Amino acid sequence: MQILVLPGDGIGPEITAATVTVLRTVSDRFDLGLELVDDIVGHESLRRYGTTVRPELLEKARAADGLVLGPAATYDFKDEAKGEINPSMFFRKNLDLFANIRPSRTYEGFPGRIGKFDLVVVRENTEGFYADRNMELGNGEMLVTPDVAISLRRITRQCCERIARAGFELAMRRQRRVTLVHKANVLKIGDGMVFLGECRKVAAEFPDVTVDEVLVDAMMAHVVRNPQRFDVIVTTNMFGDILSDLTAELSGSLGLGGSLNAGTTYAMAQASHGSAPDIAGKNIANPFSLILSAALLLAWQGRRGGKTEFEEAARAIETAVEAAIAAHEVTSDIGGRLGTNEAASALADRIRSSREASYKRA
Ligand code: NAD
Repeated sequence: MQILVLPGDGIGPEITAATVTVLRTVSDRFDLGLELVDDIVGHESLRRYGTTVRPELLEKARAADGLVLGPAATYDFKDEAKGEINPSMFFRKNLDLFANIRPSRTYEGFPGRIGKFDLVVVRENTEGFYADRNMELGNGEMLVTPDVAISLRRITRQCCERIARAGFELAMRRQRRVTLVHKANVLKIGDGMVFLGECRKVAAEFPDVTVDEVLVDAMMAHVVRNPQRFDVIVTTNMFGDILSDLTAELSGSLGLGGSLNAGTTYAMAQASHGSAPDIAGKNIANPFSLILSAALLLAWQGRRGGKTEFEEAARAIETAVEAAIAAHEVTSDIGGRLGTNEAASALADRIRSSREASYKRA
């Protein structure tokens, strides 16, 4: 099983190294046979190759069984003609990773900022307000005159249908509750007719799932006031991006924001947050976001290929994260004293000596 590992910018290399430590540990422990293949994207690639993402990385990604992508300094990348391509967009669009699965939950030992909850934001990943991925050719943002800009929001029935289906299927494995988040009072066609229309059709196929619909602005209040109300939240691209940063921080820290970008054939682990230049190079970033993302990737591979050892490895990572948080063996953003490296090593030790691991060995 080959995984392409792309560390990115800012804290990317630090949290990716931490994630590689944990992946190697679970690979040994659960006989996963992971082969980690390193390459680069972002500023280092721009310096060395004149582009933030070399086109051949797409073939490399397709040949692999999964990707781990560290955060990139996407705000710095302004001009695609100069090789400044957003690596996130590149892989999400070209590998058709339409579902961005972003779980947020609280933990014993650090019960979040507003009490316990456990929810998943299921965010459409390939269109919506993200104009840079909406066109077959060219960019969906245009400067019409020096004073007039247009950013194109694309909403298609196909993308709404498949993200709704991903959300309802996930809800069937969880609490069987789906909340559809939208702005149909203003975007009456895109969010009303198309997004909600498609979601309601899919909902009809899942009679065991309870469905409610919430306007995105009110959602910000509801999720802070009563996050326990939510299980699976299905929404369009930008709303999901914003909402999932809020839910990650409410769970304790953006540094707990794991996420998986999944399509029908490929999947990519990628933390919810950005490259955090304010803390880069200090060995203080929380690596759990990318480590939990890698666990989501292993679970996805396990479910897809019927490989129970991958699902066990994913569970072992999640259990070890829970235990590490309870024992305060964590970084300072969630109340610990460990550095990025030390938190990853402690987690790896915990996985090595876990009960599941000894059971497997026996
Ligand atoms: P950010 O998400 O990088 O950081 C926001 C805040 O959260 C900062 O205070 C940061 O220190 C903190 N934080 C983030 N990750 C953390 C971690 N693992 N542990 C502890 N604290 C953490 O947002 P930003 O500063 O607005 O963006 C920085 C860069 O990242 C920009 O260039 C932006 O475009 C880019 N970005 C990239 C991605 C991506 O590659 N997927 C996503 C979002 C933003």
